[in-house]
Amino acid sequence: MKDLLFIDGAWVAPASGASFEVIDPSDRSVFHRVARGGPEDIDAAVQAARRAFDSGPWPRLSGAERGAILRRMAEEIAARTEELALLEVRDNGKPLPEARWDIEDTAGVFHYYAGLAEALEAEGPRDIPLGMEGFSASAVREPIGVAGAIIPWNFPMLMAAWKIAPALAAGCTMVLKPSELTPVTALEYGAIAQAAGLPPGVLNIVTGFGAEAGQPLSEHPGVDKLAFTGSVPTGRRIMAAAARDIKAVSLELGGKSPLVVFADTPLEEAVEWILFGIFWNQGEVCSATSRVLVEAPLYEALLARLAKEAGRIRIGPGLEEGVLLGPLVSAGQQEKVLGWIERGRREARLVCGGGVPAGLEGGCYVEPTIFADVPETASIWTEEIFGPVVCVAPFETEAEAIRLANDSRFGLAAAVMSTDLDRAERVARAFRAGIVWINCSQPTFTEAPWGGYKQSGIGRELGEWGLSNYLETKQITRYDRHRPWGWYLKG
Ligand code: NAD
Repeated sequence: MKDLLFIDGAWVAPASGASFEVIDPSDRSVFHRVARGGPEDIDAAVQAARRAFDSGPWPRLSGAERGAILRRMAEEIAARTEELALLEVRDNGKPLPEARWDIEDTAGVFHYYAGLAEALEAEGPRDIPLGMEGFSASAVREPIGVAGAIIPWNFPMLMAAWKIAPALAAGCTMVLKPSELTPVTALEYGAIAQAAGLPPGVLNIVTGFGAEAGQPLSEHPGVDKLAFTGSVPTGRRIMAAAARDIKAVSLELGGKSPLVVFADTPLEEAVEWILFGIFWNQGEVCSATSRVLVEAPLYEALLARLAKEAGRIRIGPGLEEGVLLGPLVSAGQQEKVLGWIERGRREARLVCGGGVPAGLEGGCYVEPTIFADVPETASIWTEEIFGPVVCVAPFETEAEAIRLANDSRFGLAAAVMSTDLDRAERVARAFRAGIVWINCSQPTFTEAPWGGYKQSGIGRELGEWGLSNYLETKQITRYDRHRPWGWYLKG
């Protein structure tokens, strides 16, 4: 059992010598122990990352050389897909086919950013035309420095990849603090880095709790940039911590994303994407379309079919063949989601689900749950539940649908379904959200920008935007006349 931290290219014991249990949510058994990192370990990790950035080879390698190592990391991940997917299932609870998909995506993210590392080198300095003769200027992009990455538990390996791969491609070094609920696969990045020949100190991994390891990382003066994915309250603390040293910050926070279904949508297509939009990954998806707005003529028929199909979803341990809904990540998350469902019973009409599935009381399960006729003032309509719970409400006009969809303090994602593509495009433009889907919900591509409006965050991950997160822009301005400028030394 790996109860060590990965610092400066080596596996080391935490300063406290302490460890903590990792629970398999399918049966609440202890399946691992990991090191309980604290401020001293964070300090050692940041110092290692600092040395690797300030005097190590990594930021000085060519983009092609960094790209080659990122590709080796991708190949290492791909070669271990099955083993990593099995670990991810036990760590997080998700069904095995979804875990395999995550790992394949993870390898893809490293391949993609290997390509961007090469492209960054090819880009070279950009000449800037100036309005004054005698001067010339160019802009160059350089790595921002040491990045601190703090990630959640819903896609443990993939969320880490979204930060590690672009940071390393840019030439940054990193300290990664995974969620205390799912630290096991994140630690595998240590072995992956070693196998790929990543220089010591470029990637450091400190497992531990938010207050003991996350907070010191966000406050550490040796960190130049913080990249965080998680809840809004924690995001606020990270931003406040970053304010002290004016660290760059990117935040990917929560959501309460709407899916607007117009009555011309074929019923089965709507049902499929609504189910995928909220029950995939147990609804523990920041962009989950947890508020569904249905045009009145389709409303009752759609609800009836949705309830029928939701009732058919096979629930069970993620390793069991045919399971499409695993346990939630932890007993705490199960309790939180069941609490929301209790509130929901008082606020709206429960159409299906709402409890712990019979026979699965030993794990952290919650049935797929649908609430209908949810008023816009209901707490289950406005607050993020982060579980397999969807709120459905009818609408009469396009303008009403847009108003209801945008009436949220979040703005991560939104989706619209209609066979009238002009209308779908119009609604897509009207959404105040960073990610918009037309005639689908959730498909995510490494090449496209990911992030939220409003309280859903700051900055964008993935694509070229993800790389920019880890780059500074420097202007280099040159005086080209070989004589005094003539301000003090006139004539
Ligand atoms: P969380 O905010 O509780 O924890 C996230 C991470 O922050 C964990 O690693 C945790 O240890 C750490 N942390 C906690 N307190 C900290 C502190 N004071 N200082 C520094 N670090 C601290 O969130 P969670 O429960 O792990 O994840 C669920 C939330 O994440 C949901 O709200 C969801 O919407 C959001 N999420 C967003 C995205 C996105 O892309 N926008 C993706 C996944 C999850």
